[in-house]
Amino acid sequence: MNPLHHDHVAHEHDFSLSASSAELDALATWRDSPRVQQPSWPDESERAAVAAQLRTAPPLVFAGEADQLSARVAAAARGEAFVLMGGDCAETFAESTADRIRNKIRTILQMSAVLTYGASMPVVKMGRMAGQFAKPRSGDTETRDGVTLPSYRGDAVNGYEFTEASRTPDPHRLWRMYTTSASTLNLLRAFTTGGFADLREVHAWNQGFISGPGFDRFESLARDIDRAVRFMAACGYDFDALRSVEFYAAHEALLLDYEEALSRIDSRTGQIYDCSGHFLWIGERTRQLDGAHVNFMARVNNPIGVKLGPGTSVDDALRLIDRLDPERRPGRLTFITRMGADKIRDRLPALVEGVRDAGAKVAWVTDPMHGNTITSSNGYKTRRFEDILDEVTAFFEIHQELGTIPAGLHMELTGDDVTEVLGGTGSIDEVGLERRYETLVDPRLNHQQSLELAFLVAEMLSQ
Ligand code: PEP
Ligand code: MN
Repeated sequence: MNPLHHDHVAHEHDFSLSASSAELDALATWRDSPRVQQPSWPDESERAAVAAQLRTAPPLVFAGEADQLSARVAAAARGEAFVLMGGDCAETFAESTADRIRNKIRTILQMSAVLTYGASMPVVKMGRMAGQFAKPRSGDTETRDGVTLPSYRGDAVNGYEFTEASRTPDPHRLWRMYTTSASTLNLLRAFTTGGFADLREVHAWNQGFISGPGFDRFESLARDIDRAVRFMAACGYDFDALRSVEFYAAHEALLLDYEEALSRIDSRTGQIYDCSGHFLWIGERTRQLDGAHVNFMARVNNPIGVKLGPGTSVDDALRLIDRLDPERRPGRLTFITRMGADKIRDRLPALVEGVRDAGAKVAWVTDPMHGNTITSSNGYKTRRFEDILDEVTAFFEIHQELGTIPAGLHMELTGDDVTEVLGGTGSIDEVGLERRYETLVDPRLNHQQSLELAFLVAEMLSQ
């Protein structure tokens, strides 16, 4: 055998993900760009030591998985699939327990079943999970009773408890972000490939959730799915392919120290992948064209998203496309719009039209959460279910009118019975918020509200 040829083959197929190269050094140029929303680590040598440790740690995801997700997103952008992204605003270390993770996965699986069955559309499932530990904040500090401390920036940075020790950024938390992401992803992979996510288990997904209209409606859908599955099985269809489902991990790539340290060169392609998660997005607050986040994300090969708020101009969108997707690669770029129910009809059409007319191919996903945050009269940061639904409705109507594709939904939700969003199933009112308000940052749909939304979206999708 020709040893050179052998070398070549070995190189192409060894699945290595290398942590050092000249290309990776170029990634570090984000440090030369203006950066926002980064913590002030108290000790640079400690930060560097943790980064070095992360650089030698195994990647959390493989480059090939990220490529597969790009292909799935490309299908959604063509209208052949629908993206469902959901999970906490901020994961926490304490709540990354088996039960909480399982409930979130089940909720997303149930919503997917509703959408797939109701709209005959494959659903691309992504959790805001296994990495969603860092938050951009509107202020660097928070003042309570005359005491001013750094803002809580997510468990990856500091603690929520309002004491100086807890609020001081600690780079060792980046290591904990890695290990907690790894254990979350491990359970996620176990649930989604070990038979739990099998459509034949569709009834089991409802077990343990509280009964209510969403629960009952899902029971009835599960019976229909069951009957369809039994019918197909009787016809000789092999359902073993359903044993495992694809489920991807997504988070906001906010802490560039962490994202850089988890980036690797893929031996198949020679390209850089950020192996902290499959799909990464740039937030509304960090999408400056000449900023560190855009610089960084332009160099990694994952499928990526950018959040676009109501202030986004067509020009902003086109420049982001030029920077982040110069080759116009299908599935590479997703625009996640979060306009607010009161602004979407005014702002989104021009943006979608401008992008369409420029011939750029992006996947349009709606985030009906972040433009609809209000404070209740009893002081809770909350959202109204009706506003969330209104933004989703407008999103579908606008794409219908323009002949463009509504490619997906991005939600803040949890599988638990919390009371953080007003209205919907259970008609949570302001007093009701006091019952089980648990989020540290933004309010999430609870399990019932998530199912209700899925049933409503399935109707919109199938029209
Ligand atoms: C978020 O997704 O939690 C978030 C902060 O969103 P945005 O960047 O759209 O404000
Ligand atoms: Mn949020």
